[in-house]
Amino acid sequence: MTQTPEPISGPAPLDPRSRLQGQTGTTEAGTLWLIAVPIGNLEDITLRALRLLRSVSCIACEDTRSTRQLLKLLDVTPPLLLSCHEHNEKERAQDLIQRLEQGEDIALVSDAGTPSVSDPGYPVVRQVIEAGFAVSPIPGACAAISALCASGLPTNRFRFIGFLSAKGGSRRTQLQELVEAQETLMFYESPHRLGKFLSDASEIFGASRPAVVARELTKKYEEFRRGTLGQLAQHPGITRGEVVVLIQGQSEAERIENTDINALIAEVKALNLSPSASAKALSKRCHLSRQEAYELLQQNRG
Ligand code: SAM
Repeated sequence: MTQTPEPISGPAPLDPRSRLQGQTGTTEAGTLWLIAVPIGNLEDITLRALRLLRSVSCIACEDTRSTRQLLKLLDVTPPLLLSCHEHNEKERAQDLIQRLEQGEDIALVSDAGTPSVSDPGYPVVRQVIEAGFAVSPIPGACAAISALCASGLPTNRFRFIGFLSAKGGSRRTQLQELVEAQETLMFYESPHRLGKFLSDASEIFGASRPAVVARELTKKYEEFRRGTLGQLAQHPGITRGEVVVLIQGQSEAERIENTDINALIAEVKALNLSPSASAKALSKRCHLSRQEAYELLQQNRG
């Protein structure tokens, strides 16, 4: 879930496609195309994705069998398929870089949706960028974004979390760390852990926090369950299919309710402002009138 990028060493060439031209005079470097594939409905493939899948010299994929099957359904004659999964992607990247150097265009796909989003891809992308080659996205389906846009929860700010730990204790700690987030939170979860996830989330975020469970997106039995965490936890009712869970961010009212007023008073006092400026600062922080804030500060003098 957490990927802390290291700084990419050295400046990237201005035009990675022409990187090798100075050396060979003829070879134009290839591009790594990150191609999104459907998350259920086969029609969710773009024209550009199809064109590239038909024209690249090889496709690096999470699972060669699933990709072969997908290409067959899309009527694409498979080029060379190279497996690229979490256990071999670092080594595979070197092989792909050599091919890019030779001028081959390469596609990277995962089993579903956007590669590198809770799927293999990130280490390859980093290494290819560091080696100075072009990496270009071919946008398409992504379960989290599809769930978000139809959820009815705020979309102006959101945070992708992906999968939490499968272990109950660590999962609860991870949820705890997100309680004060104000953005809509997006989780991937397996259906058999959904009930436990919702009951933990209801306990930690509060039963009244709005949430949505989006299931089987783009497929025949697509379903959105909207309600509060308490309601959803009482009747999770889902044991099969694929799910995205969205939890609304902490509201301003909730934030104030959970705020330690004494800590805010101490914070304002530490600023050493005049009494009226202090009242103004405190009223802003805890949404009281200036008069109320002034009185609070007077009561807490010294
Ligand atoms: N790369 C993918 C993407 O762009 O969304 C995510 C792959 S991740 C390994 C698989 C998880 O994505 C599933 O466990 C589920 O949480 C979510 N997911 C994938 N397809 C879905 C669908 N059709 N409906 C709901 N959730 C889906």
